[in-house]
Amino acid sequence: PLPDGKNGEAPALRIRGLSKSFGRFIALKSIDLDIEPGEFVCFLGPSGCGKTTLLRAIAGLDPQDQGTVHQRGRDISRLSVDRRDFGIVFQSYALFPNLTVERNVGYGLHRGGLSKEQRRARTTELLAMVGLESQATKYPAELSGGQQQRVALARALAPSPGLLLLDEPLSALDAKVRLHLRDQLRQLQRSLGVTTIMVTHDQDEALATADRIVVMNQGVIEQVGTPEEVFSHPASPFVAGFLGDMNYIPATTAGGNTVSAGGTTFAVAKMNNQPPGREVNLCIRPADIVVELVTGDRNGKLEALVESVSFRGNYYRLRLHCQALRQTLEAEITRNAWDLLAISPGSRINIALPSARLAVFRKVDS
Ligand code: ATP
Repeated sequence: PLPDGKNGEAPALRIRGLSKSFGRFIALKSIDLDIEPGEFVCFLGPSGCGKTTLLRAIAGLDPQDQGTVHQRGRDISRLSVDRRDFGIVFQSYALFPNLTVERNVGYGLHRGGLSKEQRRARTTELLAMVGLESQATKYPAELSGGQQQRVALARALAPSPGLLLLDEPLSALDAKVRLHLRDQLRQLQRSLGVTTIMVTHDQDEALATADRIVVMNQGVIEQVGTPEEVFSHPASPFVAGFLGDMNYIPATTAGGNTVSAGGTTFAVAKMNNQPPGREVNLCIRPADIVVELVTGDRNGKLEALVESVSFRGNYYRLRLHCQALRQTLEAEITRNAWDLLAISPGSRINIALPSARLAVFRKVDS
């Protein structure tokens, strides 16, 4: 028996030392991961990082070369696909084109020992859950992409699987439908409490939906954490850059929690164990740079020249040059701040880099 997971319960999924190669290419390198019952976990990473390969290994569609997978304490590492307990939704919907919506949804119920009436009742229940009662007798080709994906979701959930696997389920949909379905999916998952893994390369999607994000790169897990943790406290330069834009300012670690850049000393919240005297990058996200009018009181602020401005809908993106740091920086300000500051290219402003938002990482060789 396995040691217990977080709440004394066996983890919904426990992966240990999982590796997978295609020929000489190593797609996954000894992955360890626990997923707790009821969690919504996103596998996030760039194309080719191995997230789909990991999902397919969990499903048994493409079994691992090495390592183990336990589901609720039971070793499923060598079980065939049809004996595993999961529902899956693919990017491409993969509905049966010659079956109606209700027959698509009822498809997975035949093996469950239910009577015809029970299957019909369950199908109706599922269609109501995804808001497609009125489409029951249509064929997939008569539905929009978003509706087809809701059918695929209902089909995956129909047999009440212990695990829901979603492989980029939203990425074929247009922006508005994608956002709507994303919220619906999350609500449905919460109300059912089904342990869910979603593969995505879209950081906004992962941040908005996941309880925890597994950030992957080149076949390894770089960081596992809540959306706030991976966004605000990235464990590596890769995670920092993949989760959103970042300014990198060359600096040298001084004593304690400080670094020096361009003759200015900055207190830094996240030193990430960098010893004194090391060349590092001082990192801050564009939205975390505080932009203010130039006043007599400089008090730790740095002067910057606005080089260019671009309107991004909900905010403005500024390209700044900071002489003291000998560095170009990207900053973002709200529309309210924009109205107050009356900025245009050529304006001089003050910026501040709040300690709580600063992190340092070792310099990566370019
Ligand atoms: P994407 O978002 O592009 O699907 P991913 O992170 O899901 O990316 P995987 O599909 O897991 O990536 O693939 C990881 C790596 O393994 C890629 O470099 C891919 O080319 C390779 N790979 C995946 N499946 C196979 C296969 N059947 N044969 C050979 N190489 C494969």
